[in-house]
Amino acid sequence: MSELHITLPDGSIKTVPSGTTPLDVAREISQRLADDALVARVNGDFWDLTRALESDAKLEILSPRNPEALEVYRHSTAHLLAAAVLELFPGTKLGIGPPIENGFYYDFLRDTPFSPEDLEKIEKKMWEIQARDLPYKRNYMEKQEGLKLYADQPMKCELIEERAGAVFSEYTLGPHFIDFCRGPHVPSTKKIKAFKLLSVAGAYWKGNEKNQQLQRIYGTAWFNKKEQDEYLAKLEEAKKRDHRKLGQELDLFSVQDLAGPGLIFFHPKGGRVRKIIEDWMRDQYLKRGYSLVYTPHVMRADLWRVSGHLSHYVENMFAGMELDDAEYRLKPMNCPGHILIYKDRQRSYRELPVRLGELGTVYRYERSGTMHGLMRVRGFTQDDAHIFCTPDQIEGEVVSCLEFAIDVLKAFGFEQYEAELSTWDGGASGKYDGAAELWTRAENALKSATDKLGLKVTVMPDEAAFYGPKIDMKLLDALGRKWQLSTVQFDWNLPEKFQLEYVAEDGKKHRPLMVHRALYGSVERFFGILVEHYAGAFPVWLAPVQTVVMPITDRQLEYAKSVHEKLEAAGFRSQLDDRKEKVNMKIRDAQMQKIPYMLVCGDREAEAGTVSVRHRKHADMGVKSVDQFIADLQSLVDLRVFNE
Ligand SMILES: [Zn+2]
Ligand SMILES: [Zn+2]
Repeated sequence: MSELHITLPDGSIKTVPSGTTPLDVAREISQRLADDALVARVNGDFWDLTRALESDAKLEILSPRNPEALEVYRHSTAHLLAAAVLELFPGTKLGIGPPIENGFYYDFLRDTPFSPEDLEKIEKKMWEIQARDLPYKRNYMEKQEGLKLYADQPMKCELIEERAGAVFSEYTLGPHFIDFCRGPHVPSTKKIKAFKLLSVAGAYWKGNEKNQQLQRIYGTAWFNKKEQDEYLAKLEEAKKRDHRKLGQELDLFSVQDLAGPGLIFFHPKGGRVRKIIEDWMRDQYLKRGYSLVYTPHVMRADLWRVSGHLSHYVENMFAGMELDDAEYRLKPMNCPGHILIYKDRQRSYRELPVRLGELGTVYRYERSGTMHGLMRVRGFTQDDAHIFCTPDQIEGEVVSCLEFAIDVLKAFGFEQYEAELSTWDGGASGKYDGAAELWTRAENALKSATDKLGLKVTVMPDEAAFYGPKIDMKLLDALGRKWQLSTVQFDWNLPEKFQLEYVAEDGKKHRPLMVHRALYGSVERFFGILVEHYAGAFPVWLAPVQTVVMPITDRQLEYAKSVHEKLEAAGFRSQLDDRKEKVNMKIRDAQMQKIPYMLVCGDREAEAGTVSVRHRKHADMGVKSVDQFIADLQSLVDLRVFNE
């Protein structure tokens, strides 16, 4: 009998007879490990615990201590879901059931929509099957044989036709459930300790709207109930903070049916916040040596032909407009506009780097039905700048771009962030443009810039755009969710296409390097992130309404009005609540609007020239003279305090 040499994570080598399974090896190490084990990793690939090892290999046993095992665990829960649906609703046709972030889904074809009550029933049935402790058994099936076996599952047959070799693997769960699947899975249903079905949504078979529509049931699954409860609580909190919900409740922005999806209307209150966001950026441009430019929203199709957008980006663009002189296109990007400004006259090395910045509104075609609040839209404003520089200037420029990006985060109250560096493949595939020397230089510049700033960075090999490497900055919000924000992107493609030049010290013409960078990314999206991060309770310097002045009765109306006017004259965003309502009602409404300061005026205050200050979070803050309150508020605003 032949022997296998199995290398364990600690480097030790076990010699075992062929036919040994990872579970056998786990048992030899300790019964505890065998009991906890969920799946194995053999030479880096997931492998069923009960599947015999086939050759010498590196073996890891994964348990709930290994978050990587969640993927297999969640996929196994998806099988459990499909088995439960077939038990309850025989005749349902199965699509696919992959793991996703935080959970899993399974697609079903059934004439009757699944109701919330159905989901409850299905979840109960899943627990029933879980308790049966059924093994996830791997079988092998001849393709032709298999097609017969799956005859009542047309979508599975389609997948088998497309993906299966002469022999394919499948997994059973009890006597009645089989699923064409590469696996692997956890060894048995008992291993699945915490899951919950969350929702059902429509989804097209293979994501193609020309195919039939399926019902996708989403669920979440975790190693234990505690982790799941934490996740569900976070999900609940995220729902409360949803910028679409808060946007409406706080009257910040809207999307108008008559105008079309993905096009954002900023209402007066949203407009005030947006002005602060935009003013801050424009001021920073000027402080940091950028020039402020403005470029048109529509430009001739010829421009987009030269830039290459009409060949490789056309599916993201709005259709052309035929005018009397030429075809025009809405701009999907600001770069060609800035390039035309650079190219408008001859440039000398002495004026480089040229940094052209714009809050430029772009329009991109997104399929109807894919829009999402402020996060996925058809029209948005980028804080977009393009830097044209010499090779010697690259590193300095990258460092200041990243410093700028970090300052953006800090200025708006984000403490945690990380970076991703997308690099090329070293030239192996030939799909990347530009000389190896350029790539090395640019990637090194990006790397050493992150080092200089002590930025935590993950390298993403072979993830660069074909025209250059980039750095993406991601922030973590109050709920620990990651949001992609700033991008610093090299580009040697556009300078070539537009034949950009500068006259160098040697008197000859050279091609400048170009960097695209957007720090908010999109102003709309950044605004949405702020709404969710602060749950709509913007810090006082950013709040659309900073104070609301409320007379207790009409007797103090004149006084309250004078306080309100004084605040406005001092430059604050104040409101006067002169409704004939009880003051408690006024306070409640102001709380709902998340207005930081409520200034209550009764007879005593009117007489003494004071206000009774109430804060949305700290409630009663005592009586202050109006002048004192104004001075205190001014310092909170000047210091841009986040947690007053
Ligand atoms: Zn599977
Ligand atoms: Zn650009």
